[in-house]
Amino acid sequence: MKLQRRRHPDDKYTDEARIRVVERYKTSDLSGDEWRFSYVVELSRKGVVYAKAVCGNTPEYAAVLLSQGLILGLAELETLDAWETLPFEKIPDEGYCCQPGCPEKSTRKYAMQKEWSDGCWFSKDLDVESSGVLYREFCDKHGQRGDCGLDDTNSNYTCIEGNDWNNAPADPSKISESIGPLVQRKRSHQV
Ligand SMILES: [Zn+2]
Repeated sequence: MKLQRRRHPDDKYTDEARIRVVERYKTSDLSGDEWRFSYVVELSRKGVVYAKAVCGNTPEYAAVLLSQGLILGLAELETLDAWETLPFEKIPDEGYCCQPGCPEKSTRKYAMQKEWSDGCWFSKDLDVESSGVLYREFCDKHGQRGDCGLDDTNSNYTCIEGNDWNNAPADPSKISESIGPLVQRKRSHQV
């Protein structure tokens, strides 16, 4: 059976984008020793940094490169001198859970019954002869897909490997991630 993986429609490839400070201790017999700092922009997918750009000590430039990294695709970033990228085949995708942002390996595969547009205003029956069976894969935590929606929903899937959603061990209502408020630190000393 020919299989073809389909990413989740909300998988925008980059799960995390950040700017961080990198330190370096410069030593020199002539000019002396000192700490130097630069900014590095990192784009991550499923817990793996797949693109980075080192950009001196100017945060505004780092912000521009961060935006560039989020707007351009991997093929375009590869052509730019500022960026260093992992080879495509080393970036997590096949074999990993299709839930956007999840870094876990998959434990189950679901064949798709129909393919729906992003806006859910059309569907097409799959031409298995030419494209093969389209599928998505999920970890145990994300095996339950719910009964709402059209594309990513239990009724659009048939389990072809591992357990189906009835045997997903985790209860999604208990694991929903909360963004929550910022936690304010208590002042250690009052003036
Ligand atoms: Zn997962």
